[in-house]
Amino acid sequence: MQHKILVVEDEADVIDMLGINLRAAGFNVVTVGDGATALARIRSEAPSLIILDLMLPQMSGLEICKVLKSDIATRHIPVIMLTAKAEEVDKIVGLELGADDYVTKPFSPRELVLRINRSLRRGKDKVPSVEKLIIGQLTLDHARHEVLVNNQSVELTATEFKLLALLMDRRGRVQGRDRLLNDVWGYESVIDTRTVDTHVRRLREKLGSLASYIETVRGVGYRIGDGEPE
Ligand code: CA
Repeated sequence: MQHKILVVEDEADVIDMLGINLRAAGFNVVTVGDGATALARIRSEAPSLIILDLMLPQMSGLEICKVLKSDIATRHIPVIMLTAKAEEVDKIVGLELGADDYVTKPFSPRELVLRINRSLRRGKDKVPSVEKLIIGQLTLDHARHEVLVNNQSVELTATEFKLLALLMDRRGRVQGRDRLLNDVWGYESVIDTRTVDTHVRRLREKLGSLASYIETVRGVGYRIGDGEPE
């Protein structure tokens, strides 16, 4: 299988250099120049790995990394940061935010390819358990971004998908509304906890016959059990 690498970089010469060398190394390369586009394309392209420059217009590489690593749908994708020597501190912050590796500019393409292959190998050992979540008749497939109810595909919004993924990933454990609000809506949550209830209600409607999989724990929040519900 040909791995897809998403490059987030705004400098034309670096983009050209990366494109030529990564394609020569057998990778499929997609390039974007800013954070907003990157976050949208990562959803639609499902890349195997992300090369993330730190110095970008509007949203910085660190902010992008933070969003990626706090999102259950993208946190498993390895991120290699491109940094300049002067960005020593950013490099440390990036690793703390969950980036897998970094390469300092100017870098040798060969070294970058070695690091990409290493991250891809490590990533493979790290993720499989969350790639596909199956509980009873409910299946959530991260790689395909698909949810199956009794083997029938159902359409969920990005937020509903995230909410379901989180509940399934933490099966058996009650998730408080505040926790869900923070983990699903995250860094920009200016909305209140009733929003969580509204989304759970819509999610249940879409799950149809499996609606009861999402249990309400009165006064606390929600839970998906770890076995077949009664
Ligand atoms: Ca740049």
